[in-house]
Amino acid sequence: MRFKPSYAPGPTDVRENVCLASAKKTNNPDFDQEFIHYYHQVCQKMGQVMGTANEVLLLAGEGILALEAACASLTEPGDRVLVLDNGIYGKGFQDFVKMYGGEPVVLSFDYHKDIPVEAVSDYLEKDHDFKYATFVHCDTPTSIINDVSQLSPLLKEYGILTVVDSVAGMVGEPIDVDQNQIDICCGGTQKAISAPTGLAIVSISEDAKKAMNDRKTPIASYYANLQTFNGYMEKGTLPYTMPAGMIEALDVALDNILQEGLLAVYRRHANIANAVRTSVQEYGLTLFLESGYSNTVTAIIIPEEIGALQLQQYIQETYNLYLATSLAQYEDVLLRIGHMGENAFYEKVLSVLTVIDNGLRDLGFKAKGNLGQLFLDAYKAENEEQ
Ligand SMILES: *Cc1c(COP(=O)(O)O)cnc(C)c1O
Repeated sequence: MRFKPSYAPGPTDVRENVCLASAKKTNNPDFDQEFIHYYHQVCQKMGQVMGTANEVLLLAGEGILALEAACASLTEPGDRVLVLDNGIYGKGFQDFVKMYGGEPVVLSFDYHKDIPVEAVSDYLEKDHDFKYATFVHCDTPTSIINDVSQLSPLLKEYGILTVVDSVAGMVGEPIDVDQNQIDICCGGTQKAISAPTGLAIVSISEDAKKAMNDRKTPIASYYANLQTFNGYMEKGTLPYTMPAGMIEALDVALDNILQEGLLAVYRRHANIANAVRTSVQEYGLTLFLESGYSNTVTAIIIPEEIGALQLQQYIQETYNLYLATSLAQYEDVLLRIGHMGENAFYEKVLSVLTVIDNGLRDLGFKAKGNLGQLFLDAYKAENEEQ
């Protein structure tokens, strides 16, 4: 298998100290009390990065498990759930709600903009009989960031629990779980955290725990049942064998983040993302979005005569670099540059943009400059402003 570097919006590059940590010899994760304590410590460190004192759990599985576990654990048959939809993952939440017998009410918005808080507020005035609401922090296929700091507190005012998918948001963008009153915040290790794929992250508020305790029907899952973790410290056992190496890797990835400092990490993402957006437009391409630009990924419209899929394939074959297009209706329309976690360093983004520039020119695109140079100029200007 030929190694292709990837600048998709996840999985991201994993720093060497994180790779090495995953290969450490570990104690038995089922029986060793030291391991249970270690698991708990890493959960708390994860909570520190997410800005929460709520319980945090690491589930053995990819980020999607966090979304499913949140819905499985909260949904009882017949529960009405408000699904805020301005992107592909946002809309997708309704499937999990339905799967566990809930009744999703999908409130859809323009996919080119972040969720309009006013419109949600107007809607809630008329109808707010929901057990919980779901929305996505960064909806990766279209590179939108939604304003958690407004949406989640607004829903809480109506006593509606919030489930937020921040798999592709957290660490690249502030999530501040407690300040934003998020009841279940979902994450994954392979995006801006830049640890290997394999752990799903959830933080669970006291209100969410109460909702689970107050259920009249049992949770219709074992693996996606968050209550199987109840009292694991006291019992000295976790519900299933934990992938110990993954937890070691996450621990070191979190240390990397805390050492750099969360604010510095956010600033690095913002500087890179601003420079990408500026340079891509100066170069003659159009961004998909009109507002709500995420600092972790940028979706760019590829001219129809070239097509995103053709560009992707051409760059793979010619330059041995894997880039992501998008999903569903946007698959052949958008090219996405992931600039999150370990991929959000200017020298890496510079090389990616240089390859994209070459690929586009080879396929006949009339560029208004050198994309790499435009990016560097924009990046320098960003840094000088601070
Ligand atoms: C990556 C991602 C997930 C996790 O799912 P994948 O299997 O990696 O697609 C969930 N939500 C969002 C918004 C993501 O970007």
